[in-house]
Amino acid sequence: MDFLRLRNKMVDEQVVARGITDENVLEALRRVPRHEFIPHESVYLAYRDCPVAIGEGQTISQPYMVALMTQCLKLDKTARVFEVGTGSGYQTAILAELCQEVYSVERIETLADHARRRLRELKYTNIEIVHGDGSLGGAESSQLFDAVIITAAAPARLDHLFAQLAPDGRMVVPIGDRVSQTLKLFTKSQNDSIIEELVCGCTFVPLIGEYGWPKN
Ligand code: SAH
Repeated sequence: MDFLRLRNKMVDEQVVARGITDENVLEALRRVPRHEFIPHESVYLAYRDCPVAIGEGQTISQPYMVALMTQCLKLDKTARVFEVGTGSGYQTAILAELCQEVYSVERIETLADHARRRLRELKYTNIEIVHGDGSLGGAESSQLFDAVIITAAAPARLDHLFAQLAPDGRMVVPIGDRVSQTLKLFTKSQNDSIIEELVCGCTFVPLIGEYGWPKN
């Protein structure tokens, strides 16, 4: 398979065509080999316009959703990013292309281990993956984050995470019920007030944990 051609087609037809304009985000999507993050038997789905199962009942997000959430964060090369829901590690890699450092938490240990190995093989050196409940925040880290991205559906606003956001920091999170959600973007102003914007409707697997849904 000509993965580079498929990847460029994915970016043009699914991402640019739907209005994503941030050139850095588009470049990252053209660079990161999405097929490396997909289980062998599903690799033919790697560049399709849909989420794909990655095992443990979880999914790698649709390419457009990865692009949209990343664009919302307005990252630059100095940014530190906190991600909840490493999953395959694909979104993590896209973030790592655009910022200084990504701290990513995944609640399913096998997924965290696989993602860590895969990202190491792909030579990323600015990613830390931790196994745990990311809904509690980036507890290991004392520094503030310039951006927070939650890639699983939260039942309500995660206001306790605003304390970990630097001034001008941005947090993107799907909020709603277990079936469908609204993607919300929160921006912290210089005086610590929070501005909330509605991005679009979406569907994510549930955030499970202290500030998410119960396990069953
Ligand atoms: N960004 C990932 C999406 C994975 S799906 C990708 O593109 O591959 C969402 C992930 O969030 C799942 O792997 C799920 O196990 C994880 N998750 C759910 N609740 C979590 C929590 N409280 N803390 C950390 N990870 C969580």
